[in-house]
Amino acid sequence: MSSADQTLAQRLLDGDRRALARAISLVENDDPAGWELVRTIYPKTGHAAVVGFTGPPGVGKSTLMGALTKHERELDRTVAVLSIDPSSPFTKGALLGDRIRLTDHFLDPGVFIRSMANRGALGGLSEAALQAALLMDASGRDLVFLETVGVGQAEVDIIDHADTVVLVLMPGSGDSIQALKAGVMEIPDIIVVNKADHPLTDTMIREIKAVLALGPKADWPVPILRTEALRGEGIAELAQGLADHRAYIQAEGTLSERRRRNLLNEVLAIATYRMRRELEESIGADDGIGDLLDRVVARELDPASAAVEILERDKAGGRPRTGPTARS
Ligand code: GDP
Repeated sequence: MSSADQTLAQRLLDGDRRALARAISLVENDDPAGWELVRTIYPKTGHAAVVGFTGPPGVGKSTLMGALTKHERELDRTVAVLSIDPSSPFTKGALLGDRIRLTDHFLDPGVFIRSMANRGALGGLSEAALQAALLMDASGRDLVFLETVGVGQAEVDIIDHADTVVLVLMPGSGDSIQALKAGVMEIPDIIVVNKADHPLTDTMIREIKAVLALGPKADWPVPILRTEALRGEGIAELAQGLADHRAYIQAEGTLSERRRRNLLNEVLAIATYRMRRELEESIGADDGIGDLLDRVVARELDPASAAVEILERDKAGGRPRTGPTARS
């Protein structure tokens, strides 16, 4: 590691916001220096409370995080927000002021805000976002908020890495209840019904309770909290709910269990991504693959048998496993 990188790592660990911004850019751009940096600072991570916010667009996640940030800052806790938007390949840090309603906090050194939409090459957006969250954690933030836009699989993957998952809904957002019911979405730790001044709020809460009652009885009864993020209503209760959940997972030992499971998933995701890429590269270099595919198209060979053949060729090729960040 060069001395410039070392300084960057040190500045990051000292909580320097610009160093954090630079470090995240390195990771986002798949610069090997970024991954190297994560390697260096990794032993210093694990102190931040990582909270994931998910839910359909427009329910008020950003507003809610803004209000919660204000609340936490009043208690002198530092916050980092990472907004993840897989639906837009164009979102860059500069645009996030539009999305995240945290404008009050832009000048506050205790608040760091960043959005991410780029698919890093190592393992995709989800992994790049996780590396960014680690950098935020290492920079000494007390709280790291991960926000995802939408409720697709990629978003759910990212959110799974939070210590506490908050599903934000608003009266009338019935699709998400369906997703919960269908098991598409794992049961969150806390459910927030925002815009709770809406007349349908009680109905919504009844529906959520009915869906939760269908699930297995859990030790942690999922609280359903009402908020009006815009007016700051219910925010103290949400902060308390987050603290309670954290105390619960710490006492139960589930925090370390949860992190272990999340880290295993992360390791597997990165490994899988790299294997796929290596396989694609070796296929690209193998003239025989075209013939193989022709046989699949001609219905002479079924896809599964073709896959087995490809794997065997790859093995027989005996190429050393390499990747952009592999080191000797
Ligand atoms: P996100 O897409 O989930 O991040 O939602 P935003 O935070 O961008 O909010 C979407 C819209 O809902 C914005 O116009 C907010 O001002 C508005 N909004 C947020 N919270 C509330 C609330 O509690 N009550 C009402 N009436 N509007 C809200």
